[in-house]
Amino acid sequence: MLKFLQDQDLSAFNTLGLAATARHLLRLDDGATLPELHESIQAHPNAMVLGGGSNVVLSRSLPGLVVKVETKGIRLLEQTARERVVEARAGEVWHDFVAHCLTQGWPGLENLALIPGTVGAAPVQNIGAYGVELDQRFHSLLAWDLQAGREVEMGPEDCRFAYRDSVFKHDEPGRWLIVAVRFRLPVEWRPVLEYPDLQRHASLRQREVLPRQVFDAVCEIRRGKLPDPAVLGNAGSFFKNPVVEAGHYRRLKAEHPGLVAYAQPDGRYKLAAGWLIDQAGWKGRRVGPVGVHERQALVLVNHGGATADDVLGLAGQIKASVDQRFGVVLEQEPVIFR
Ligand code: FAD
Ligand code: NAP
Repeated sequence: MLKFLQDQDLSAFNTLGLAATARHLLRLDDGATLPELHESIQAHPNAMVLGGGSNVVLSRSLPGLVVKVETKGIRLLEQTARERVVEARAGEVWHDFVAHCLTQGWPGLENLALIPGTVGAAPVQNIGAYGVELDQRFHSLLAWDLQAGREVEMGPEDCRFAYRDSVFKHDEPGRWLIVAVRFRLPVEWRPVLEYPDLQRHASLRQREVLPRQVFDAVCEIRRGKLPDPAVLGNAGSFFKNPVVEAGHYRRLKAEHPGLVAYAQPDGRYKLAAGWLIDQAGWKGRRVGPVGVHERQALVLVNHGGATADDVLGLAGQIKASVDQRFGVVLEQEPVIFR
């Protein structure tokens, strides 16, 4: 039986720690109740789906229904000589799922350790870190179509994965509720160690590296670099790294020899947005209750009592100054709930 709660405070359900109230909240902990949800959803058009709240900016008052996904379960679906297919329910905590896979002897996700949030949200922005993106380990997913009231299976093409992007960031918001995600994990595992922080890490500078060592190193590096949302509200990187044409990159590099950029397979260049923001003078700056983190210019923080307007106001100022200085338009990463 679904239980709808009224006028619920969501400040503990978003890592920026913004004060926000949902007019209606449903905590979904049983996927079998989705058909029942379809019957009641007519009264709540434009529902919003929430996972761990680590990639959202919540407005103070949300007039519609928020469905918080809390379904659990992990199972090995298939194993061949080449790969394992592992399925996790959407409400599983992403990091716990990665750790569980490692304990079971199913490596492949360790570069994505310690990313906050849920399994169900991971395909939404095709999460990535330290040279691995979800689509490289993706098999398929099950999604509930909240409009049609039915479950569909989606493969990689249906999800249209791109850099920190997928169909779920573009289709009508609130259409899809991802129910479960299936991963393809290689039996013959090879470490991915190209990122500078991993190259520099003492425990990874040996001939044979184990998955557990990569997992531990990623956790250690992240703990040292990123603010813990439990201590200082934040939503991770607030902007995506912009990808520009080669000509634009060359002009910028000539003007700013320190520019940090990475060549892409399609000939374009990915610019480190953190470097652009730092150079524009924003690192460590505070504007009222919000600010830019002192060690990570990509991370906007809530020093206490901030609203969505404060966060989006600061983001707008940063965007304008980076555009003015470098002619590069930054794109916001978190999703705005209104
Ligand atoms: P939420 O914030 O709850 O939701 C995000 C979006 O997904 C919303 O549009 C929501 O509607 C949708 N959504 C959530 N659950 C579902 C579902 N079951 N079905 C359909 N739609 C759903 N991201 C990276 O890619 N790499 C990183 O290294 C990284 N590091 C981070 C570090 C910190 C400290 C923080 C705070 C964030 C970081 N992030 C990173 C961003 C964030 O953790 C990821 O985007 C994560 O996948 C969001 O999960 P969530 O459950 O919190 O999603
Ligand atoms: P970093 O290692 O200092 O690198 C700075 C930027 O350069 C990163 O954004 C990264 O792009 C890019 N980069 C570095 N080495 C690269 C390589 N060998 N090939 C291609 N691109 C390279 O970055 P960081 O800030 O400490 O973050 C480490 C990783 O965690 C990154 O992958 C980052 O995306 C991820 N992270 C994401 C979030 C989030 O909220 N989205 C928050 C914290 C950390 P990419 O970002 O494209 O990888």
